[in-house]
Amino acid sequence: MNIIQIPAFTDNYFWLMFEDNKKSAVVVDPGDHAPVIKSLKDNNLELTDILITHHHNDHIGGVPELKKVFPKVNIFGPLDSRIPADNIVKDEDIIKLDSLYEEFRVLDVRGHTNSHIAYYFDKKLFCGDTLFSCGCGRLFEGTHNDMHRALTKIKNLPKETMIYCAHEYTLDNIGFAKILDPENSELLNREREVKSILKKGEYTVPSLLANELKINPFLRFDNKNIINSVQKHFNIKISNEAEIFKYTREWKDNEYD
Ligand code: ZN
Ligand code: FE
Repeated sequence: MNIIQIPAFTDNYFWLMFEDNKKSAVVVDPGDHAPVIKSLKDNNLELTDILITHHHNDHIGGVPELKKVFPKVNIFGPLDSRIPADNIVKDEDIIKLDSLYEEFRVLDVRGHTNSHIAYYFDKKLFCGDTLFSCGCGRLFEGTHNDMHRALTKIKNLPKETMIYCAHEYTLDNIGFAKILDPENSELLNREREVKSILKKGEYTVPSLLANELKINPFLRFDNKNIINSVQKHFNIKISNEAEIFKYTREWKDNEYD
């Protein structure tokens, strides 16, 4: 299977998938129609399916126009009146699409929004705005417990899973991670790597889950250095992981960006 990364707006990524011997494609989170249509044309493909992770406009904005150009397109998404899906999917559903050989598994990852889902197959996770490289989505609707549960679910996927997230936020996220984890050599290595990738005009995602587990403070709520930094910063004693996650998120929201 081929996966094409489509950059859009200032820092979004849409993901287009197709098989070598089929002329049809699937796109995840098309926030805009134009770059998707261009990529389809460039590769001589028809669009058969759209997978939506959550209702934010930078993830669904291109759907009406894509539906005009491809009237038979199937749109998959969670139950949410704000999402124009005609195939409603929920946690642990399996999706089989005509255009792709692999089946997708749906994961409920609510937290960034109340109906946020992710799509997983073959050690690839399309997680929208739930997890980013070295960061995670803001809590617009869900609770800290929701997001902690979602991130724990992702943490427990195979370590070789590639994280196909929806934004290029990596360098900024590393800036915050360094405040909590200044002596983490893996994090400093990743910073150097990310700077050189961006300098070449390339992309820092997808990223490998095994690496995220070493550097992403929002997956490291059980790490001693992160726990110490959070306790010191807020001058409190915290005993559970969901609380560590909660304070880490609050720290970033209130004092970083
Ligand atoms: Zn979003
Ligand atoms: Fe987004």
